[in-house]
Amino acid sequence: MKSKTYYIKTYGCQANTADSGTIAGILEAVGFEPLAIPKFKTEKEELQYVMKNTDLFIINSCSVRQKSEDKVYGIGKVVKEAEEIYNQKPFIVLAGCMVGSVTGERQRYEFSQLKRKTPWVDLYMNPLQVSELPLLLKREGILGDWAKNRIKNIVGGVKDTSTHAFVNISQGCDNFCSFCVVPYARGREVSRPKEDIFRDVRRLVKKGATEITLCGQNVNSWGLSVKEKFHLRAGSDHKLPFASLLREIHDIPEIKKISFVSSNPFDFTKDLIETLKLPKIDNYVHIAVQSGNNDVLQRMNRRHTVEDFTDLINQIKKVKKNIEIGTDLIVGFPGETREQFMDTVQLVKKVKFSVCYIAMYSPRKGTYAEKTFDDDVPQKEKKYRHDLLTKVWLATKRKQPL
Ligand code: SF4
Repeated sequence: MKSKTYYIKTYGCQANTADSGTIAGILEAVGFEPLAIPKFKTEKEELQYVMKNTDLFIINSCSVRQKSEDKVYGIGKVVKEAEEIYNQKPFIVLAGCMVGSVTGERQRYEFSQLKRKTPWVDLYMNPLQVSELPLLLKREGILGDWAKNRIKNIVGGVKDTSTHAFVNISQGCDNFCSFCVVPYARGREVSRPKEDIFRDVRRLVKKGATEITLCGQNVNSWGLSVKEKFHLRAGSDHKLPFASLLREIHDIPEIKKISFVSSNPFDFTKDLIETLKLPKIDNYVHIAVQSGNNDVLQRMNRRHTVEDFTDLINQIKKVKKNIEIGTDLIVGFPGETREQFMDTVQLVKKVKFSVCYIAMYSPRKGTYAEKTFDDDVPQKEKKYRHDLLTKVWLATKRKQPL
């Protein structure tokens, strides 16, 4: 019997990429095969091919920017076309943060609103339901009784594509940065038990993985309670369970390289800085600063100041001189003046980041910033700041030694 095929379209961050890997592993464990797909020039062509050729289509969505959500809404058009032309469409599952945002205890808006905008979706699955996917599909009649025994044997399911693999070590976030949807979309911050993480890592190693990226919205706080973590400060002396976890994974002989995302400055303590010296730890670390101005950082509800951040970078560079640093920045946050923006420009000139993800602020429904502040920086000004900061960053990169 010909196997059924699946295709996953992933939007957003590495946590979503890791979840998509888990979903792929689960689907293959219950007998699906990945859809082999040629290279297409446009996303539309890719989606048209998927509509015609796959049985199951999973969209792992992102809510961080309106643009990401709009891309998902845009899929509706391709679905409609496929139904008109071929009189068929795959079974479509909408997964990820868009679903997390309308379900669970930190719901941002009504589920019915999402359903109204995506009538072509057959099943909704929030990020906490990933391991329940086989049962959800079975309930929908997509998996027959033949899959029963296989379902029983699923114990996680992280996808092994090549020598590199993502492993999620925590879910959710309790930081509530005022602009961010993640605490709503992915719920409370929950650290996965160490045994589960090691079980996944060992399984991946068995399948040939030599490089592991540990993922979470806030990996530094792995294993800490909210109360414990909010006592931490950038570069302070606190011991971190996450630093111990890195050391233990570092001891696995088959593993040659370890990376981790995402990190915030406030819980990046000396203990973690010290681990950067370990030979298998990647020479790149991503730490989101978001702004170079303390008033803006405060309104963003970030737990660090610009000085905390620059001191942290200095401490890191003392331990590992040539380490590459990446960051995330938002321009045009409510109330950000031209002068405050120029502080961000100065910070970028000073730190010389290897990677900068620069975003123009867009209000996200239900967040503190959306409810409290006016989105008062005109779009034209946001664009100007975005382009200027990008130019400044690229100029600092060119000056860096190769
Ligand atoms: S730390 Fe802040 S920006 Fe990052 S996921 Fe949590 S709330 Fe969002």
